[in-house]
Amino acid sequence: MPPGAVERENFSLYETIVPMSSHKSSTVSSAVPSTAPAAAPSDAPVRPQVRPAAEGWQQAVTTEGRPLLQFKSPRVTQPPVHLADLSLAERQEKLKELGLPAFRAKQLSVHYFQHYTTDPERMSDLPKAGREELVDALFPKLLTEVKRLATDKGDTIKFLWRLFDGSLVESVLMRYPGRITLCVSSQCGCGMNCPFCATGQAGLTRNMSTAEILDQIVQANRVIAEGGLGGSRRPAEAGQDAERVTNIVFMGMGEPLANYKRVMAAVRRMAAPAPEGLGMSARNITVSTVGLVPAINKLAAEDLPVTFALSLHAPDDELRDDLIPVNSRWKVDEALDAAYNYYRTTGRRVSIEYALIKDMNDHPWRADLLARKLNQRGRGWVHVNPIPLNPTPGSIWTSSEPAVTREFVDRLSAAGIPTTLRDTRGKEIDGACGQLAAAE
Ligand code: SAH
Repeated sequence: MPPGAVERENFSLYETIVPMSSHKSSTVSSAVPSTAPAAAPSDAPVRPQVRPAAEGWQQAVTTEGRPLLQFKSPRVTQPPVHLADLSLAERQEKLKELGLPAFRAKQLSVHYFQHYTTDPERMSDLPKAGREELVDALFPKLLTEVKRLATDKGDTIKFLWRLFDGSLVESVLMRYPGRITLCVSSQCGCGMNCPFCATGQAGLTRNMSTAEILDQIVQANRVIAEGGLGGSRRPAEAGQDAERVTNIVFMGMGEPLANYKRVMAAVRRMAAPAPEGLGMSARNITVSTVGLVPAINKLAAEDLPVTFALSLHAPDDELRDDLIPVNSRWKVDEALDAAYNYYRTTGRRVSIEYALIKDMNDHPWRADLLARKLNQRGRGWVHVNPIPLNPTPGSIWTSSEPAVTREFVDRLSAAGIPTTLRDTRGKEIDGACGQLAAAE
């Protein structure tokens, strides 16, 4: 398919979705009498209540009738081992196995983690004889760029990568004043099946390896160093003082906590000082989860001050059961308790993500209920990040009206909960939250 064909296809999908969803919502609101759930105060103004199931979305279920969730990946094959899969000590071991001095491990690590290169031509500190073989052994090609789409005057770039087995994943690079954020994928597809998320609708293919996760950052750093991200101060000058990715969000494809071991190894390597890793600040790494409670508690017990985000999207189980299928395992209160425990254990304020979906979860009483549930657990431990829903192909829902969004934010703020509306980037290139579907 010629480059650009998909781009046009996505744009046309985007254009058809918006009118379709507004039409759908209004049909439902007039056809279905308002059924505010029990938690709504009796004097609440009448508001339509739409639900995924009522709008024709069918929850995939197991033979026992439980919501279908894929915690295990159907494909277990992993790419060949790459230098970034190994700790520095393991790299040194590997070199000894190859009959080479251990100090080569550091040299190779500098090339990869500091110069972002795997090109043997540029590794003049390594003996010419055997250099290519060594590079082949330690740097198997993990990510092949298939497509690059830019928007925001070049400040936002979405990359589509092909992995060794043909799987496709995406990452999104965003320049903000004072920081550069990369949204990374952690799985090929996702098994959590959330109806409003393009990735969730595609199902899970496999977990990404530690090095596949890290290589997204290294490749992005190379693009930045070469001046490929809009507004660069200047291209890298001999690797000195070059700009690079400062913040990582695990908000690309996949549920990071369902690929716990590999994601944690990747996080440790991001935070490890160069040349063992990228020398990033753990605080600038955000792990976002749909709410896998045991894994959240495990994360809290790791000695790693990453930023934690919980995708809540509804404060009541009645709606969250539909909206986030994993709620069939761990309920709203259990997920919030785990988030609170994360704060208690690490001292790090946590984020609650809340995609605002028109007439579904944006009711004022839900803002109040959310504030109550957060305040019940304590003060100053949490902030809320509402995200206007981004349209996804085939989905019938739209984002909340601006006035409704404002009221939702205002109610939380008035209850003392710091609340900031997320500025979503990359909608025009299907690169915003929930839009990553990795089609060629
Ligand atoms: N699986 C993880 C991370 C991936 S998604 C998680 O669920 O947290 C990152 C964020 O984007 C999540 O909060 C997710 O719920 C949200 N999201 C998904 N689809 C969206 C959409 N269509 N519009 C806005 N946000 C969406």
